[in-house]
Amino acid sequence: MGQKILVVEDNELNLKLFCDLLGAHGYEAEAVRDGREALERARAFAPDLVVMDIQMPHISGLELIEQMKADGELRATPIMAVTAYAARGDEERIRDAGAEGYVSKPISVLKFVEAVRKLLEDAAAQAEDTTKGAEDPAPPEEDVAAEEDAPPSESDYEESDSAESLDLPPADAAPDEGSEQEEQDEGG
Ligand code: MN
Repeated sequence: MGQKILVVEDNELNLKLFCDLLGAHGYEAEAVRDGREALERARAFAPDLVVMDIQMPHISGLELIEQMKADGELRATPIMAVTAYAARGDEERIRDAGAEGYVSKPISVLKFVEAVRKLLEDAAAQAEDTTKGAEDPAPPEEDVAAEEDAPPSESDYEESDSAESLDLPPADAAPDEGSEQEEQDEGG
């Protein structure tokens, strides 16, 4: 696959675990140990997803998530927060900050990889939706109108079948004045 994932984590053991895990599943992981470098590194690396530790010295992951979501360039990149304390309201705070996903430490290897995979899938689906919307901005009203038109056209079909020969004269042979009469003839 080779999708790129930026891992922001101050704990060396966790950082290695996350990067090894992602690498083993075919992702290209880039490690960031100092949160203060996270935004700059994210702009340079242009990751498909960011794994963000919350508890870090100097700057918290929550602040970084807010900053990334306020940044036009980085806003669309999904963020999976990783946090050690699962205090009540933590997940809500993290999601309020703008993170798309959340995993608590100690991580379950399976859940971690599954969460990464799902976030990347969701982001891809969303990007597809956005593209479709831009290319084909057809209003839903048209669909309703088309459905309403459909039944009569079926009966038209049957009528014209039985009146094949009457299709020919109207347009060329008759002037406008006579057209009404001829339509009536067709119907009858
Ligand atoms: Mn930490």
